[in-house]
Amino acid sequence: MDGMRLGAHVREDADPIGTAEAMGADLLQMFVTDPQDRKMPKPAPHPDAERIRSSPIDVVVHSSYIINVASLNNRLRMPSRKAVEQQAAAAAEIGAFGLVVHGGHLGDGDDDAQGFENWAKLFERQADKGGFGVPILIENTAGGDHAMARTLESIERLWDAVGGFDQAGFCLDTCHAWAGGEDLVGLVERIKNITGRIDLIHLNNSRDEFDSGRDRHANLESGHIDADVLVEIVRAVGAPVILETPSEGVADDLAYLRSALS
Ligand SMILES: [Zn+2]
Repeated sequence: MDGMRLGAHVREDADPIGTAEAMGADLLQMFVTDPQDRKMPKPAPHPDAERIRSSPIDVVVHSSYIINVASLNNRLRMPSRKAVEQQAAAAAEIGAFGLVVHGGHLGDGDDDAQGFENWAKLFERQADKGGFGVPILIENTAGGDHAMARTLESIERLWDAVGGFDQAGFCLDTCHAWAGGEDLVGLVERIKNITGRIDLIHLNNSRDEFDSGRDRHANLESGHIDADVLVEIVRAVGAPVILETPSEGVADDLAYLRSALS
């Protein structure tokens, strides 16, 4: 499988390229702001932006965890929208090919249709301003009854809302799909039938049982998912792969994957 780009999320903020090089990665995923900061601050320019931009290592950015553009709560949705815009701009600054944003979820009693509509509005409004700095890769999530991208049914409704926007892409997280209760065998085809695309894979094993609704990543050979099934997903998707597995095993995961694909 020549040309398959394999990499990992890099938690080392100061020197992401150096860390990715040391690990032998073709691409890396990073944050542009503290992902846990509930205020979703505007990202500061990265001191190493020029080096990141010019490196042969590809870059994708993961957005803040608190972002929820589907929310019916104005005080969460409005700053989330702003944060997506700002973090996509920061991603463009470092030459990233996309910004990963979780599908988000609504609260009990909320009407899901409004959440999908809010996703459409995100792209609609930004189109008036010339679009986002980079494509928005919407990631499936593991838990919750009102998630916008957990089940195939929700992904289908989401894509009915956003599929017409060319800056809407999809990121498949294997741990989230498993914990969210989607059979991984044949899943790539079922998703592509809905979205027409998978732009990025978050390749993670799961520390929890099928349909647990829990989001705890494991190294490729150590979770509840058969590692062969994970390798099959990589083959079937043919998109760049980011490992978000526990850091002490990431180098082994990368080596395992390279040999399994060769
Ligand atoms: Zn992920």
